Amino acid sequence: MTNPATDPSSGSQNNSQHDVNLSVVDLYTIGIGPSSSHTVGPMRAGYRFCLELESRNLLQNTGSVVVDLYGSLALTGKGHATDTAVIMGLNGKRPRNIDPDDIVPTVAAIDETNLMQLYGQYPVSFNRDTNLVFHFTETLPQHPNGMRITAFDHDGLKVHSQEYFSVGGGFIVSSDDHGAEYSGDNITLPFPFSSADELMEICKREGRSIAEIMMENEQSWRSPEETIAFVDRVHDAMMCCIDRGIRTDGILPGGLNVKRRASKLYKELTEKPEAGLRDPLTVIDWVNLYALAVNEENAAGGRVVTAPTNGAAGVIPAVLRYYEKFGANANQHNIREFLLTAAAIGSIYKKRASISAAEVGCQGEVGVACSMAAGALCAVLGGTPEQVENAAEIGMEHNLGLTCDPIGGLVQVPCIERNTMGAVKAINAARLALRGDGQHTVSLDKVIETMRQTGLDMQSKYKETSQGGLAVNVNVVEC
Ligand code: SF4
Repeated sequence: MTNPATDPSSGSQNNSQHDVNLSVVDLYTIGIGPSSSHTVGPMRAGYRFCLELESRNLLQNTGSVVVDLYGSLALTGKGHATDTAVIMGLNGKRPRNIDPDDIVPTVAAIDETNLMQLYGQYPVSFNRDTNLVFHFTETLPQHPNGMRITAFDHDGLKVHSQEYFSVGGGFIVSSDDHGAEYSGDNITLPFPFSSADELMEICKREGRSIAEIMMENEQSWRSPEETIAFVDRVHDAMMCCIDRGIRTDGILPGGLNVKRRASKLYKELTEKPEAGLRDPLTVIDWVNLYALAVNEENAAGGRVVTAPTNGAAGVIPAVLRYYEKFGANANQHNIREFLLTAAAIGSIYKKRASISAAEVGCQGEVGVACSMAAGALCAVLGGTPEQVENAAEIGMEHNLGLTCDPIGGLVQVPCIERNTMGAVKAINAARLALRGDGQHTVSLDKVIETMRQTGLDMQSKYKETSQGGLAVNVNVVEC
């Protein structure tokens, strides 16, 4: 079995479990928008289904494919481009190497011919109206983000079927391995940790930072050079995404007629720089700009880094860019420290709770991204591990209860602005923690457990179904 942590390009297969080993490559994925669980995950599922057919020698025998989407994947699937994502996956495309510009012409060709190129090579019958079924009132028992893909031979007989679950952050598990041990469990880490308390204990005992501990653990999977190269690629992709978002204006797709704002804001900030001198809070405009740029790219189906999800993809790049532009000590070493520290914090959430909005609402997406960014910023600004833990805790404490209620099932409203809020909150959390001594009332572990329990109590209409909150109180005018 491929170890996803060794192969940064592979889709990981994982579920929330305390005892799994998570690597930095499990927290960041270079993929496409608009959603990690509803776009990146389903595309991986489609691709993985092709691999299963290939390993069974069934590709040539397959005459048609049917995709059934359940639960949240059905309810918000259209707005999250789940349908086109799984089609592209079945066409042999993967999130890391797909050209976003290929999607529209490929789907149009399928609609015109009712033929799909399975695994990019084998023509099979596929009609979007009949072969892609949205089960709006059914949920598979194992997980709210469930799907089934079935292949039939040329006589219409079923030859293979598989259920997949998109468990957050682009992770996919199948019904064969749902609940199974993660492949990283075969690896023994020098400094294993499943909680913030354990991580603090290790840092104290070893006299090392969180990023250093994370880096030591990464060497169980690959060389330090390979890890550094991966982290640098993630950083480059984040910054490219900001730059593309800043350059692009227009209306976002999906029918909500949401205007892209980053490009106009950038012009205002750069054309009248003297205004910034009069208003010290202009720095917030810059942070907002970075987050808007990323999330507008995400909403448009562009290339983004899942960090730790797509809906929340703007928070970490925005805080990192803020640090690079406004921090006094930004350099390549500290940028790597930032991303490794954020990954260490994110891994604790993934182990102890969830980063899936379908499981815990937006607190698990923008809330977790805010917590990761807060801790990371605190670290590179000179915070002790205790202050970093404090910053991460503050970042989540004030996102507890945050629901997921995207209007029209699109990752646009409230998602795009919500990332600006997450980024600004993360910066404030880091500053609060840096002014303290690391001593505080609520530990990071306690707030993570509170987030998990709050998510369990949250009604499903607030968990990425677009059946509650803003999604039902704001009328969507179809165009
Ligand atoms: S409301 Fe939050 S969790 Fe839900 S789609 Fe938007 S960003 Fe993602």
